[in-house]
Amino acid sequence: MDLRPILEKIRPMWLASISEYLASEQGVRKSFREELDGFYNCILDAAADANLSPLERQVDDWLKSQTETEVDRLDSTLLTLVNSILVHSLRVFRENLDADEALAVIEAVMPAFAHLILYISLAETSLRIQHFTDELESARATLERLEKSKSDFISVAAHELKTPLTLVDGYASMLPESLPISASDAQVNILLDGIRAGTKRLREIVDDMIDVSLIDNNLLALNFQPVWLDRLFGLVQRELGKVLKDRNLNIVFNPFPGSGEMIFADGERLLQAFRNIITNAVKYTPDGGTITVDGRLLPGFIEMVVADTGIGINPEDHVHIFEKFGRLGDVTLHSSGKTKFMGGGPGLGLPITKGVIEAHGGTIWVESAGRDEIRCPGTTFHVLLPVRKSPPDEKIAKLFHSLLENR
Ligand code: ADP
Repeated sequence: MDLRPILEKIRPMWLASISEYLASEQGVRKSFREELDGFYNCILDAAADANLSPLERQVDDWLKSQTETEVDRLDSTLLTLVNSILVHSLRVFRENLDADEALAVIEAVMPAFAHLILYISLAETSLRIQHFTDELESARATLERLEKSKSDFISVAAHELKTPLTLVDGYASMLPESLPISASDAQVNILLDGIRAGTKRLREIVDDMIDVSLIDNNLLALNFQPVWLDRLFGLVQRELGKVLKDRNLNIVFNPFPGSGEMIFADGERLLQAFRNIITNAVKYTPDGGTITVDGRLLPGFIEMVVADTGIGINPEDHVHIFEKFGRLGDVTLHSSGKTKFMGGGPGLGLPITKGVIEAHGGTIWVESAGRDEIRCPGTTFHVLLPVRKSPPDEKIAKLFHSLLENR
């Protein structure tokens, strides 16, 4: 049966009925009628000649004309539209053609619509994937820009602060000799000590900011030299001796295989890293608590474990605390005490620690059941460091040859 004349005969009816239906039920504009006419031509080509290309082109045009908001929506507007056209077309054919003609037309248009629905689903899916990929990419680029300005700000602020800080430091140290006051004047000494303590803390923060920007820009240079981990822990323990006594905290170092052996690492930087971890343990453990330093030797690595009986860290923050300014809790309740219980800091200690450990080729992670200031579930930091038994270069080998020979 030649379907063209039948489909032409019913065209005006189809057009009027479908455009009326779409306008009233789906709010499609009346002027859409012209496009519907074009669409009908495509259906006609598909039904009469099995030529599906015009239909696909029509869909491509409709997809291209979709607005961002339409693409953003997860339900498919075009699929709903084509589905409505199909359902309504079947009714028009059934009601306005005799049974044989209707059957022949329906048999011919059904595969075209089936193809169309599949085509739209695929095209819309890939359009959406592209759309969301673009959005993700732009969000990533924005984040990268933000991260870069944060890093630039830290670097500029640190260097700008350094000069006035040195001035304050210098003048404060000259003050006792320059003023007509007695060095034994208790009141003056209290004031001078206050200035010194303030500038010392400020210098530590500025140095931390500089370290963070070095790490951010992959500029942290390590000075490899012989290091004994047990000695590093001993140093931190001694540094914190007074605080540990004042806060009635107990620190236990359990020597472990490898902790007394010489390895090559940047001692200063490792000391800084362990100092940060243990100072945090002090800060977040209530008076009377215990900090235990343990570890084990693994093939090619040493794992060090610092566990405290403190307030703990919620699992969702285990990654966040290693990001710069990743301090938790209410920033407005900030206390500047470096070792006071729950005394906050700028949130730069752990990012630096992570940067130092990673620069050594190691890794750091934290374990804690969660934060509970009453029950104190404790926190455990793990540091995995590669065991470097030989010097990194000839110069270092020459410098420490006697140590290396006596091993
Ligand atoms: P801060 O300068 O705030 O100490 P850090 O980078 O050293 O910054 O630590 C980031 C955050 O991680 C801290 O603000 C604290 O909330 C959390 N934290 C670090 N160590 C511990 C710990 N041992 N117990 C509980 N919380 C900790």
